[in-house]
This record gives sequence, C-alpha cells and structure tokens, in this order.
Amino acid sequence: MAYRVDLNAIGKEQVSFDFEIDDTFFAALKQAVVEDGVLSAHVDIQPKAGDSYRMQVGINGYVVVPCDRCLEPMQWHVSVQQEVNVEKTTTVPDVNSDVVLSEKDGTLDLAPLLYDFIAVAIPIQHTHAEGECNEEMINKLSSYMVN
Ligand SMILES: [Zn+2]
Repeated sequence: MAYRVDLNAIGKEQVSFDFEIDDTFFAALKQAVVEDGVLSAHVDIQPKAGDSYRMQVGINGYVVVPCDRCLEPMQWHVSVQQEVNVEKTTTVPDVNSDVVLSEKDGTLDLAPLLYDFIAVAIPIQHTHAEGECNEEMINKLSSYMVN
C-alpha cells in the first residue's frame, strides 16, 4: 500500500510525494527482473481540468541486475525523469488509453508505473566495466559452451 496515492485527497494545488524503493519493492513485483536496488522517487501531481492530472516522476539511485557477461550481480545507475497524464476514472479503464488511469475508488497504484520507468532505464545489454567481471565465472561459463 505504500506506493498508492488517493487522487480524491488532492485539491487544486500541486502535491508531491517521495518514495523509497528497495529490495522489498522489487520482491513484491513478481515479474521483476531487478532483484535489488536503492532508489528514491519524487512524484509531483499537478491537477488539471476535470479529473485529470499531470504527473512528473523523477527516480534516482541504482539497481542490482545480473551482468550479461559473467552473470554476477552488478549495480546499474538509474536516473530517470518522466511525465505522464493521469485520469481519475469511475468506470472500467480503457486499455487503449495512453493515460494512466486510477482505480475505481480514485486511488492510483504507482508501483507498476515506477517499476516500468526503472526497467526502461536498464539497457538490454548491461555488463560490468571492462576488467571488472568475474573472470573465473566467465571461464566456467565458456567451458559449458564447449561440446
Ligand atoms: Zn560481469
């Protein structure tokens, strides 16, 4: 529940939220490729006309992902700034919508959104810096590849 925002509680003024993201965040999201990380997220929600909002999300920190070359854990620095439109809805969300929709009761679950923003900040190819891989592991892996 820690990453939920009640849009009903937002008046006409911009509101800001700060979230800490750590291993429990990634553990709760079962699909997470990222196993660990230490990040902080800052979220600004600016009310717009009607039941819509402009949301700015800034995330900074690092995640721990397996290195593509040696499979050992490595830290990847993440610094993202994203803007999305949010709409409060009382109906079934339109899946084709490019805006983020709240749940029927007006709450917004930020956890999947924050995870998506972090995930896109991690390149498909991510390896340790040259010379920082676990050479022993690489040798072991390459020996498995010999038929
Ligand atoms: Zn490596």
